[in-house]
Formats: sequence, structure tokens, C-alpha cells
Amino acid sequence: MADTLDDVHEIFAVRYAHHDRQSPENFLFGDPHDILQPLAYFVWAIVGPRGTFVVDTGFDQAMAKKRGRTIVKPIADGLNSIGIKPEAVEDVIITHLHYDHCGNHDAFPKARFHLQDDEVAYATGRYMRHQTMRIPFEVDDVVAMVRKVFAGRVVFHNGVDEIAPGITVHRIGGHSKGLQCVRVKTRRGHVVLASDATHLYSHIYEGRVFPVTYNVGDVLEGYVTIKRLADSPDHIIPGHDPAVIDRYPAASPALEKLVVRLDSDPKKR
Ligand SMILES: [Zn+2]
Repeated sequence: MADTLDDVHEIFAVRYAHHDRQSPENFLFGDPHDILQPLAYFVWAIVGPRGTFVVDTGFDQAMAKKRGRTIVKPIADGLNSIGIKPEAVEDVIITHLHYDHCGNHDAFPKARFHLQDDEVAYATGRYMRHQTMRIPFEVDDVVAMVRKVFAGRVVFHNGVDEIAPGITVHRIGGHSKGLQCVRVKTRRGHVVLASDATHLYSHIYEGRVFPVTYNVGDVLEGYVTIKRLADSPDHIIPGHDPAVIDRYPAASPALEKLVVRLDSDPKKR
């Protein structure tokens, strides 16, 4: 019997890119082990009775080349593989305006974009004068979003807000001043798409911090908030951990290593 609750959603993690790097690059104050510790890049899709909500828009091939990353599958192809047509999507939640979360500007022509006030203010304000602060931003991404503001296509949120029944956004800050995570009610309970509030499982589990950070204190406080919002540690989904692909079942056999179901229980370890 199908679930009749109208606030229960499926969640897909769609992997689109990859970057090989050594572990000291992933932690403030480095890492004594100096091992290969790659990052995976994802967009996420929340699918339920209220429609489809895409979380973040990734980057394209040109940006991959500029930043030395490898596209595994372009985001439009990844979304198409689970039956989502980007051109028909009406709601996109942008967790923050870093280059790997808000590219592919024209892929969602019908969508409104949900962002925190603080993130838009930060990405267009005084700190962007400083090279150190703007490393993870691309001016073309920010300008593209400002154009959407002027076109009436940005929905601003301040702190905690409901996007639809069963889907809420929560400002975390820390990694970027207006970073938000997304809490989703699923058949296995409340899952938190943490995005870059924790890049890897080890950041939140071990209380460590990714080096690109606006405010270290807010990163650490964010871990407390995320643990409170998620029904268990297994309900926290980090933004860049390749282990997500291994922990959750593929959306279909053909999508092994590419798309996994986050509303399914993780596989036994
Ligand atoms: Zn990121």
C-alpha cells in the first residue's frame, strides 16, 4: 500500500564530478596521515507529492576545466537518468553560492531559486573585495544570481523556513556566511542534506573543519544543529563524501556509483 502522507519524500544524491586530493587539503590545520582523500560533487533531488525540488546546480565542463575537477556525468544527464527534466523543475534550493553549488545557470529556466538573505548579501558585499574570501566564488555565478533576483526568481529565506510540507531550510553559516542545509521528511525519518556544513563524514563526526571557512565557530555550532535536526547520525548527508555513493543503494543497477537513494536505509557496514 502506497504511503498516503503528503509530506514524505524520496531523496536522490546525483554524483556529477570528482577531485583527487590529499587529506591535508581537507582539514584546517592539515592532516597527519597525508592520504589520498578525494572529494565527490553532488546535486540532490527531493521528489514527492508536492513536485520535485532540486538542491544545488553543480558546475559545468568549462568550470571543471578552470578548477581542475573532473565531470563524471553532467548534472542534466544525471537528473534525466532519474526522470527529472531540469527545464521543467520549478524549485531549486541553493545551499550557498560557491562555484560547485550554483553553476549551470540556464539549466533551470522555469525555476525559482531559494537562498538565504545572508548568502546573497555576503557574495555581493564588502568581503568579496578580498581574494582570500572569494576563492570559492565565481563572479559570473554571483552575477547570474543577481539577474535572477531582478527577474523576480529568487525566494529569500532568513534562518529557518518551510519550502513545502516536510521540507525545511536552516541557515548554518560557517563555511559560507549564509550556507543553509535542507531537512527532509522521508519514509525512514528526517534526513538532513548538510551540503557543505560538513564536507565529509569525518568533519562532523570528529569535530574537524574544512579549510575554506567564513567562521569556524559557526561551523562547529552547525554540527550541533545538524545532529539535532537529523533523526540519527545515519540521517546526516555530507556535501562531498564519496562514501555516500557506497553507503546507499543505487537508484537502479545502471546508476551504480552515480545516483543513490538517501530515503533508503544505508547498507550494512
Ligand atoms: Zn562544495
